Amino acid sequence: MNQAAIFGNHKQASRWLAAQLHKSAVAADAPFLTGRHWKRGLAAFLRAAENKHIILVFRNEQLQEVSEAFHQLGIFEMSVFPWDTHFFGRETTILQHCLTAIDNSKPRLDRVEIELNSGCNLNCKGCFQFSNLVNGKCPADLDAFTKDLQQLKKFFWGIGKIRLQGGEPLLNPDFLLFIKAARKIFPDSDLRLVSNSLLLEQLERGQLAVIRQYNCSIDISAYPPTRKKLKSITDYLDAAGVSYNVSLPIKVFYKGLLATPAASPDRAYDHCIFTRCHSLERGLLGACTRQFYSSRLNEAFGLHYPARDPEEVVDLYHTSLNGWEINRLFGKAHPFCSYCSPGLEPFAWKTAPKNSAKAEDWIIAGNPSGRKAAALLQKFLKPFAVRLRRRNQRPKRRRH
Ligand code: SF4
Ligand code: SF4
Repeated sequence: MNQAAIFGNHKQASRWLAAQLHKSAVAADAPFLTGRHWKRGLAAFLRAAENKHIILVFRNEQLQEVSEAFHQLGIFEMSVFPWDTHFFGRETTILQHCLTAIDNSKPRLDRVEIELNSGCNLNCKGCFQFSNLVNGKCPADLDAFTKDLQQLKKFFWGIGKIRLQGGEPLLNPDFLLFIKAARKIFPDSDLRLVSNSLLLEQLERGQLAVIRQYNCSIDISAYPPTRKKLKSITDYLDAAGVSYNVSLPIKVFYKGLLATPAASPDRAYDHCIFTRCHSLERGLLGACTRQFYSSRLNEAFGLHYPARDPEEVVDLYHTSLNGWEINRLFGKAHPFCSYCSPGLEPFAWKTAPKNSAKAEDWIIAGNPSGRKAAALLQKFLKPFAVRLRRRNQRPKRRRH
């Protein structure tokens, strides 16, 4: 790269980047700064950027949409700088850690959820991943994880958000190695460790330093037992300089599976607020976490939900689909959605380990009129819930 043109919506990060490039003997124009309506400035920017290497400086979650616009214009070699997850201010950001060259002939995957340990130390009744039906420590395999991410890279230039979760990921003694591998393969990602955080204070300072060094943040799920010790957990993380997000208080869980499928999957999908929860395990990429892990419910209670149906799960080592086609497949209702209720049924949060869990913790008993009201309410609330969830999950990176 001899000449660079910066297109971004963060003044401080864009100017800092231009100055760093100059120091590395790359001629960079004054950044072309844009705002919420970034498409309006695109034509003017492209005229000025001819024959230069384009760098996008946007929020991490915006990079999929913006890079796709450049793909449609036939621009495939470029770089990205996700400022909200990778820029910590002038003094503490390292150029090589925040600037990633991408192959923009491929798309980006918006999000993936990967279990580092299937079992959990909390065992919530009605766990979305059915982790309370798995016994305790059941760690993922690091080699398989690394190969799967490398394989995923053949389809996508990057991943917006990687959520390393469980069950409880801290029950995997090698969890730091998973963080390192994920960061190495997908340097652009908003990398998160999703935890109930009850074991967090048992981590050593050195382990927290690695989490910080690899620019991973922690998503603290605020279940009642977690909330009781939230202050000491966040004090511990603050002292170590580790970034974190705390979820809204979780006092209520929801059951949402139907005993028999609806005629069409579309209504449940239209009402669903968990439509971007793609899962990855052993070479399989699934559209939805609930569908992906419903085999646990089948095994525990002798049921027959179509877990990992080939129509909605992509075998990354044998598929003929490309990344664009996978994104299209995952962007619409899939057959398993017909097993979901368009209206969820709430219940108070409590624990239910495997020996006390029941199928009814997930499956709604038939009451069509009650469900109709719940479905209408859910449809009405969905836009607010999605916006609230997105806002609450926005990166809150602290200065290192
Ligand atoms: S904390 Fe609860 S909801 Fe989260 S993975 Fe564990 S059992 Fe499931
Ligand atoms: S299967 Fe479909 S409706 Fe059910 S949780 Fe997943 S995306 Fe939502």
